[in-house]
Amino acid sequence: MSIMPKLLSAVLGTLIFATPAEAAGQEHNKVPPRSEIRDEYKWNLRDMYASDDEWQNDFVSLKASLPEMNQYKNKLGQSSEILLSCLKTRDRINVASEKIFAYARMHRDENNADTKYQAMTGKAESLLSEAGESTAFVEPEILAIPDAKLAEFRKSEAGLAEYSFFFENLQRQKKHVLSPREEELLARMNEVADASENTFNMLAHADLRFPEIADSAGKSLQLSEARYRLFIMSPDRKLRQQAFAGLFGAYNQYRNTFASTLAGNVKKNIFFANSRKYESAIDAALETNNVPLTVYNNVISTVENHLQPLHRYVALKKKALKLDEIHMYDLYTPIVPDIQLTYSYEEGRDLVRKALKPLGDDYLTALEQGLSNSWIDVYENQGKQTGAYSWGVFGVHPFILLNYNNRYDDVSTLAHELGHAIHSFYSHKHQPYINSSYTIFSAEVASTTNETLLMDYMLKTTQDKKVRLYLINQYLEQVRATVYRQTMFAEFEKLLHEKVESGETITADLLDQMWHELNVKYYGNDIVVDSEINVEWARIPHFYSSFYVYQYATGFSAANALADQILKEGQPAQQRYIAFLKSGGSDYSINLLKNAGVDMSSPQAIEVTLAKFSKLLDELAILLEES
Ligand SMILES: [Zn+2]
Repeated sequence: MSIMPKLLSAVLGTLIFATPAEAAGQEHNKVPPRSEIRDEYKWNLRDMYASDDEWQNDFVSLKASLPEMNQYKNKLGQSSEILLSCLKTRDRINVASEKIFAYARMHRDENNADTKYQAMTGKAESLLSEAGESTAFVEPEILAIPDAKLAEFRKSEAGLAEYSFFFENLQRQKKHVLSPREEELLARMNEVADASENTFNMLAHADLRFPEIADSAGKSLQLSEARYRLFIMSPDRKLRQQAFAGLFGAYNQYRNTFASTLAGNVKKNIFFANSRKYESAIDAALETNNVPLTVYNNVISTVENHLQPLHRYVALKKKALKLDEIHMYDLYTPIVPDIQLTYSYEEGRDLVRKALKPLGDDYLTALEQGLSNSWIDVYENQGKQTGAYSWGVFGVHPFILLNYNNRYDDVSTLAHELGHAIHSFYSHKHQPYINSSYTIFSAEVASTTNETLLMDYMLKTTQDKKVRLYLINQYLEQVRATVYRQTMFAEFEKLLHEKVESGETITADLLDQMWHELNVKYYGNDIVVDSEINVEWARIPHFYSSFYVYQYATGFSAANALADQILKEGQPAQQRYIAFLKSGGSDYSINLLKNAGVDMSSPQAIEVTLAKFSKLLDELAILLEES
C-alpha cells in the first residue's frame, strides 16, 4: 500500500508496491542463488519478449518512432482525424515504452546484482522520459481547443468515443490551468518547492543518529528506524520502552527543524492551490482525482463517532498483557505470542483458491490462469528484490513478485497481490488502453477484498483457540493501523493546513500539542499518552505527500464492505464486484465504487468495518477469559 515512486506513478498505472507488512520479516539464512529455483516457481518474462535481442529491437524501433509525434504539434485543433491519429500514436508509444521498461526492470528485480539488466533498466528509464517529452504537448494543446470545437470533433469522429472519459477529466481541470507563461513559472517553481521534503528526507533518513539501547537482559542493541519496528513489537517490555524513548528522543533533538520542513511543505501546497485557483490545499489535492471533500470529511467524522471500540481494544490489550498501566510503547505488541503457522506455497495457494470461491466462477477461472501460467515469481533468491508487488503489463498479462516464506502473512500477501493482478487482468481485457489503469483509490480495494475473504475463510474454518486468537489479533491490528491510525493522520493534515490557511504560525510546540491531543482522543483514557509520542508527527514521511493517507482507510473499508456484501448477498454483489474490476479507470473511482455497492461519502463502509472490529473484540474478550 505504499506510495509509488513519483517517476513510476507518472508512467505506470498498475505497479503496486508492497505494504510494510508485506516487506517485513524475511529470514536471510541460506538464500539460494536464482539458478537453484525450479522454473515452475518463476515468472516467465519471455511472455513479454522471447529474448533480450527482441527487447533490443523493440527499443530501437520505438526510439526511432518518437519523432512521429512532431507531425501533430500545433495541429490538434485542425481536425478530428488529426486528433484521433495523435491519440492513437501516443497510446502506442505508451504501451511500448511501458513494456520495454517492465521487461528490463523485472529482470533486474530477479537479481539486483545483475549489471546487464541494471544497464537495460537505465536505458529503459531514459526512453520513458524521452517518450514522455515527445507526447508532453498533447494535453495542453487539447485544453487549448475551444469547448464547442472539441464537442464537434467528438461528434463527427466515432473513434474518439473511447477517449470520452479522458476528455471529460481533462476539461474538468481546465479552470485550473494557467497561461503558458504562468505554467512555465510554476513548473520552474516545482524544484524549489520540493526543498522542504528533500531536507526532511536528508535529516530523517541520512543524518539523524539513533542511540544504542539495552534489552532486559542488558544486551546492547543499535537502534534504527527499521529495527524500531521490530523492537516495538517485542514481548520484552524494557526493550520496547527503550526503543520508544530512544527513537523519539532522536527526533525531539531536531524538532524545530522538522517543524520548519513540515510547515514549508504545507505552505508549498497552499501556494500551488492558490496559484491554480483552488479554494484550499485540500480541495486541490482531492479534485485531482475528483474525490468530493465530503468523502474525506466523512472518513474523519465516522471514525470519530466510533472511537469507543478502539478504547475497548486498548483496555483488552492491557488486560491480555497483564499490565498495570498501558503505555504508547505497548500498543504494537501482539496480544498473543507469535505462533508458528506454516503453509507451503502449495498449501497457501489452495487456501487462497478456497477463500476466493465466493467471487464466483469467472473470477476463479482468471485466478487459475494467474496461478498456473507463470505470472508469479514465488521464492526469495540471492539478490532478488524484497517485498512483493503486482505489475500489470498492458497487452501481455500481470506479473507478481513474492518472497514467499511459508508464514500466514505470505499467504495473505499472495491473496493481496492476486487481487491487484486480476484487477489488471480484467481491466486490460475490457478497457481500451486509455482507460485501462485504475487509480490508487480503487487499487487497494481489489487487493484488500481478497485479504478480507481469506481472513473470513480462516476464521470460519479454524477451531483451535490459539490460532483464532492469532488471526483475530492480526485483523484487529490491521484495523487499528489502517483505519484508526491513518484517519488520525488525515485529521492532523487537515487541521494543520487549515491553521496555516487562517494565518497561524506553525511551531514545534503547536505540532506537539496537536499530536498529543489527537492521541488522547483516539486512544482514550485507559492509556498513558507518554510525552515522547508528541513529536511523532516529525517522523511521518507521508505528510510530505499531503492528503494521501485517508485512502488507506477508505480502501480498507470499501473492501470490507464489498466482501461483506459478496458473502451475504451472493451473486448480485459478486457481479457488481466483477464489473467494478472490469471497469478499470473508465470513470472516477468514487462512481465505480458506488456502482459496486459502496458509497464512500456515507458512513456505510466504515461502519461495516468497525462493526466487524467490534464483533471480533467480543470474541477476543471471551477467548481471553477462557485462556
Ligand atoms: Zn497493495
